[in-house]
Amino acid sequence: MKLIRFIYQDKEWYGELIDDFVALYKGDIATGLAPAGVDVALADIKLLSPVKPSKAVCVGLNYIDHIEETNAQRPDEPCIFIKPSTSVIGPGESIIRPAMSRRVDYEGELAIVISRTAKNIPEEMAAAFIFGYTCANDVTARDLQSKDGQWTRGKGFDTFLPIGPCIETDINPAALPIRTCLNGKTVQDSNTKYLLFGVEKMVSFVSQVMTLLPGDVILTGTSSGIGPMVSGDTVAVEIEGIGRLENPVIDPA
Ligand code: MG
Repeated sequence: MKLIRFIYQDKEWYGELIDDFVALYKGDIATGLAPAGVDVALADIKLLSPVKPSKAVCVGLNYIDHIEETNAQRPDEPCIFIKPSTSVIGPGESIIRPAMSRRVDYEGELAIVISRTAKNIPEEMAAAFIFGYTCANDVTARDLQSKDGQWTRGKGFDTFLPIGPCIETDINPAALPIRTCLNGKTVQDSNTKYLLFGVEKMVSFVSQVMTLLPGDVILTGTSSGIGPMVSGDTVAVEIEGIGRLENPVIDPA
């Protein structure tokens, strides 16, 4: 199913997206979800990011096409970093270009949503800890990432992690077309079959470093074609079978 989180009548809900209506669910990812027996019109809700992660764990260089294109060496294990929970925004919310940076890039990525507490999970058991998949944009202040040498500032600004629009819980992520569009023009066009470290490997690897909590997300890396965004742009990350995550880009007020 396609699970969304949203505001309806001033309250936060989860719900299943079914054509142009939403079936409300009680509970959340940690406690379990159950149908509430109420349907509402899509027009009456305001979408939120489908998860509120305690952390977003991201992987650097992970697309074979991108590694070959840049003549980089294949890493022998995933190189991971964290984006703070405060960087998360939902579909339609604005990415704010920080005054500190002169170059803010999009990075369209497949994100794994964790279903339950995961610590030291072997790869062959990892699927049982995956709730589903969503689209994410690993927005990056490229100049600051290079200048600092480590990535906390360049990756960590508020609004630098759009997630959504939904979590697809019934999809095989092995070969999904993934695209990023800037103002309607395709700028990244790849397929998850080019992932060097696959989703089970990523869950297993990260869980051997830190405990993953329900609703945490793992971003699986970006393909070739990264580039800058300016104020007034609209960026969209689209994964076939999951959905399209669209966000405007603005300068600070
Ligand atoms: Mg990235």
